[in-house]
Amino acid sequence: MDSQAGGSIGARLRLVFDEIRRAEQASGRPTGSVRLVAATKMVTADRIREAVAAGLTIAGENRLQEALPKLETLQGEPIKWHFIGQLQRRKVRSVVGVFELIHSVTSLELAQEIDRRAEAAGIQQAILLEVNIGGEKTKIGFLPDELERTVAGFETLSHVDVKGLMAIPPLADTAEEARPYFRTLRELAWRLAQRAIPRISMEDLSMGMSNDYQVAIEEGATLVRVGRAIFGARHV
Ligand SMILES: *Cc1c(COP(=O)(O)O)cnc(C)c1O
Repeated sequence: MDSQAGGSIGARLRLVFDEIRRAEQASGRPTGSVRLVAATKMVTADRIREAVAAGLTIAGENRLQEALPKLETLQGEPIKWHFIGQLQRRKVRSVVGVFELIHSVTSLELAQEIDRRAEAAGIQQAILLEVNIGGEKTKIGFLPDELERTVAGFETLSHVDVKGLMAIPPLADTAEEARPYFRTLRELAWRLAQRAIPRISMEDLSMGMSNDYQVAIEEGATLVRVGRAIFGARHV
């Protein structure tokens, strides 16, 4: 059972929405410029439905085998699904067209496979490029300089729409410790946008989780991925 600290899912969700609006205002950004993606790994379909009833519109799932049954159960609910976890090439076929946005594209090869599958399905698939912003050995994702070298390669993928960048900064004790990483991601997106590469947009920055989403918004996040602050602690 998840902790009930802070009340119901609806009450906690409203607190997160309030915090998002407050952080938008505090940083002089227009209301509604940040979208909440609820990270719903290990959250049951019933509890996601509770969040949808309270106004949630986007859920992010990490693992396909966990996500697909939930998507099926919640068919017809007014919710969009994002894919935020590590994506294997052989699973791409099941993800394309099912998830509105894939946050976690970590290589050109993976994007090429997404492009092939999207073309076969006759659709455009929106993606974000995941950046290993702290240069951590244990994390996947593009290193910033690597991305600057290879980003032009995405231009040729006619059925993939690159919408921006995603990152998970190194684990930290305080939100402030994450701020320089968020800023680095924003500056990287800015440099890439300056190059005006056809078909590559940098309109979205997916950064910030329960512990630090307010700081991420101050640094330019347009998508925050929040789990525990809405659903309580995850117990493995
Ligand atoms: C679980 C998860 C989150 C949310 O983390 P919380 O600390 O629960 O807010 C965000 N992004 C990704 C990729 C995740 O796997």
